[in-house]
Amino acid sequence: RDLYAPSRVNSPGVEFGDETALASLLAEVATGQTRVLKRAQPIIAGKPASGQARPVVSPVDGREVGTVDEADVASIEAAFAAAAKAFQPWSTTPATTRAEALEQLADLLEHERGALIALLAHEAGKTLDDAVSEVREAMDFCRYYAVEARRQFGSGQIMPGPTGEENRLVLRGRGTIICISPWNFPLAIFLGQVAAALAAGNAVIAKPAEQTPLIAALAVSLAHKAGIPPGALSLLPGDGRVGAALVGDSRVAGVAFTGSTEVATKINQTLAARRGPIVPLIAETGGINAMIVDATALPEQVSDDVVMSAFRSAGQRCSALRLLCLQEDVAERMLDMVRGAAAELKIGDPRDPSVHVGPVIDGEAKQRLDAVVARAKAEGRLVWQAGLPAGVPDGLFVPPAIVRVASPSDLTEEVFGPVLHVTTWKAGQLPALLDAIAANGTGLTLGIHSRIDQVQEAIVERLNHGNVYVNRNMIGAVVGTQPFGGSGLSGTGPKAGGPHYLARFAIEQVVSVNT
Ligand code: GLU
Repeated sequence: RDLYAPSRVNSPGVEFGDETALASLLAEVATGQTRVLKRAQPIIAGKPASGQARPVVSPVDGREVGTVDEADVASIEAAFAAAAKAFQPWSTTPATTRAEALEQLADLLEHERGALIALLAHEAGKTLDDAVSEVREAMDFCRYYAVEARRQFGSGQIMPGPTGEENRLVLRGRGTIICISPWNFPLAIFLGQVAAALAAGNAVIAKPAEQTPLIAALAVSLAHKAGIPPGALSLLPGDGRVGAALVGDSRVAGVAFTGSTEVATKINQTLAARRGPIVPLIAETGGINAMIVDATALPEQVSDDVVMSAFRSAGQRCSALRLLCLQEDVAERMLDMVRGAAAELKIGDPRDPSVHVGPVIDGEAKQRLDAVVARAKAEGRLVWQAGLPAGVPDGLFVPPAIVRVASPSDLTEEVFGPVLHVTTWKAGQLPALLDAIAANGTGLTLGIHSRIDQVQEAIVERLNHGNVYVNRNMIGAVVGTQPFGGSGLSGTGPKAGGPHYLARFAIEQVVSVNT
């Protein structure tokens, strides 16, 4: 059997242009709105625990969406104890049964789509379009890892060997896996990590992003309803201190983390310095993602793909385009078109289906992004910034902006939001451009717009980015089709939504029997 052949299909989307489909989606969200959770608590062995309470505030309108009880030392201890107890029975539960629970979870996500979308929009500021995609991705992760669990964690693989001996290679869970996830995909990445760790037979302690605990709490309650044993999945909301306490514990058997390079590095150091076994870190971070455009590229296509990659989701994707590298001869024309296309974007309340760009996640992000734009303006490098439409409060909205840099090496940090940096390169200087892109050490997504095969090949050969997109946009990797993740400062691999991911959450055991 072909190991890579799909044996399931991804879930369908919603056609926003179809009025009936859109109306029924809006009705679903309105009904779902009445079922959203208003309080996120630590959930340990299926039971809520209390903790220091604080409000969860919406980036859309500054209103309180609910409250969160942050996990304390007692909750952390209880979660480790519950995980230790749940691990053996779960890891010896047949992979097919574990897979069925994940498939059941996918079905429940589908059923609760309205509530999930309502929370994604209000708690995380996601546009409806993005929220629909995110629920789909979460379901697809669950179903994909279910299929992979059956394939890889079944009866094992017989290895070739001499007559009279049977050698069987099996994969088994590692123990307690800590999953630490980001606010930008508070459902899909949260559940992607959790589903993979569970599929591989581990017990999980999940620490969601501090900005988005409510959606995580809803997801965990659905997972338990779907048949994930309560002790095998605990939720510990809180800030970075909770994460630090978790990864520093000697009982940890592995960590899945998605977030900044800085925190990934700290986790790596903590894991290395603590007592206990040597365990894997599966980290997915960001990158100074570049798109290289040469003079043969189709301008309309480039401008559509740039706008989609840099500004949709308010630029708050790890995969988003950060550095646009235009060949000098066509740069001004292309830039004009990008600016024109970007000016068409509608900024506003993400719950309005016609809105393309919602708010950024919090005040800290807003300040950081505004400072980047202000500095560029002061230095005469601000090419363009959209205005805020009348009626949209200043709040946490950052209008898309384009900023010029003289060379790729001038952009040394990932700017996580709708601020695109642009630079130019001269014909004949492609190798130097590629060296400069390689020099920043990140390697997540890379875009190429060129109609010359040799140019495409030369770029791919020189750069080792994890996801390379040629003549298209560079966001929205599809589960099972575009396994996602980078290398270097962008992460450890293996790729989420790909065939090698689950094995990293497992130990390998070979049993050799003299028959
Ligand atoms: N997988 C997402 C994409 O391809 C990005 C995930 C992230 O932002 O971490 O756009």
